[in-house]
Amino acid sequence: MKRELFSEVHDDFRASFRNFIETEGVPQQEKWEAQGFTSREFWSRAGELGFLGFQAAEEYGGLGVRDFRFNAVIDEEVARCGLATDGFSLHNDIVAPYLSEYASGRQKERWLPGFVNGTLITAIAMTEPGTGSDLARITTTARESNGTLILSGAKTFITNGHMADLVLVLARTSVGGLSVVAVERGTPGMTQAPPLHKVGRKAQDTAEVIFDDVRVPGDNLIGEPDRAMDLIKRNLPQERLAIAVTALASTERALAIGKRYAIERETFGRPLFKHQTVLHSFAEMNTDLEFARSHIDRCILALNEGVLTPEEAAAAKYRTTDIEGDVIDRVLQLHGGYGYMEEMPIARMWRDARVQRIYGGANEIMKEIVGRGVFA
Ligand SMILES: Cc1cc2nc3c(=O)[nH]c(=O)nc-3n(C[C@H](O)[C@H](O)[C@H](O)COP(=O)(O)OP(=O)(O)OC[C@H]3O[C@@H](n4cnc5c(N)ncnc54)[C@H](O)[C@@H]3O)c2cc1C
Repeated sequence: MKRELFSEVHDDFRASFRNFIETEGVPQQEKWEAQGFTSREFWSRAGELGFLGFQAAEEYGGLGVRDFRFNAVIDEEVARCGLATDGFSLHNDIVAPYLSEYASGRQKERWLPGFVNGTLITAIAMTEPGTGSDLARITTTARESNGTLILSGAKTFITNGHMADLVLVLARTSVGGLSVVAVERGTPGMTQAPPLHKVGRKAQDTAEVIFDDVRVPGDNLIGEPDRAMDLIKRNLPQERLAIAVTALASTERALAIGKRYAIERETFGRPLFKHQTVLHSFAEMNTDLEFARSHIDRCILALNEGVLTPEEAAAAKYRTTDIEGDVIDRVLQLHGGYGYMEEMPIARMWRDARVQRIYGGANEIMKEIVGRGVFA
């Protein structure tokens, strides 16, 4: 079905972002995958061209545009070209509200201009070696002492953790309270470790960040003390929808790759798609994509209207990432032995997609949220 979601302005934005990513991102893929992170130039070029922090008010360099369709265009195009980096999504979809909505005026002045022009790469550090799904149990602390916050603890699996210039840290500020504290790159005591060796998404840096009595001004606290969970909850629908959007764009790419192969490859004297089980498999995969896409497009509009519920976002995240995993696995199978070869795009997609069911809230946790909603 034709998507009704986007207008001409989104289409123009898509064309311009696609051109940028294809000319300045894709050719660097091998290098970035080998080193485990992208480049600062890539970020500053993205900022220069208006692809970062467009939500921020004009006085900070942004466009004051709060329309998730622009975020979706970026997420879709990154997935469409197979680059498998989450950096921009992390910056635009997850960190942006903390800086453009929840931050104080002074904090906005300090950080938003760089956030928008791509010279201030951001990360958000919640997960710890001992706990991920159960954030209430985090042990990193931020003790207050004479107007200074002193952070101690360790975070792991942090997207952009190696490159980030500003890390938003979820830390315990009282027995029952968590807060978000911003820590700038180079602050004594903060170690941003080299990228972790992941199974996939290798061009994306994911790193440990360690805090050893890191001292920052009390002014670096974002939002109210002890109220971090309120901010996190407000932002979760957007974070989860971004993963769903990425999942469907990647599903679409896998289907296109599979379709080409099913036409070209012959077995038993005919192209693969002429075997009925293969044809039916494509019917199922295409139907799953089409149904999911109509629903996710509605979710995007609901998010724009501020009415997407946590349960709806959780359902969107787990269902679309399950579809993504299923379709990519089936298309890999269709390629036979070639599908298992490192240089085949579908093999790379298979590795890259697996984590979509784990991060952003593991799919089991999503089902917990949806299930509880059913009985609420
Ligand atoms: C590539 C990558 C990027 C990431 N980026 C970030 C980031 O930028 N910032 C950040 O803070 N974190 C990030 N994470 C961390 C990610 O969000 C966590 O890994 C995820 O939330 C799961 O937490 P965990 O790994 O501690 O697993 P655990 O919480 O230990 O869970 C282990 C398994 O048990 C299941 N499980 C847990 N509780 C239940 C339950 N009640 N019922 C049924 N099953 C359950 C989970 O679903 C999971 O499958 C990233 C992770 C990866 C791999």
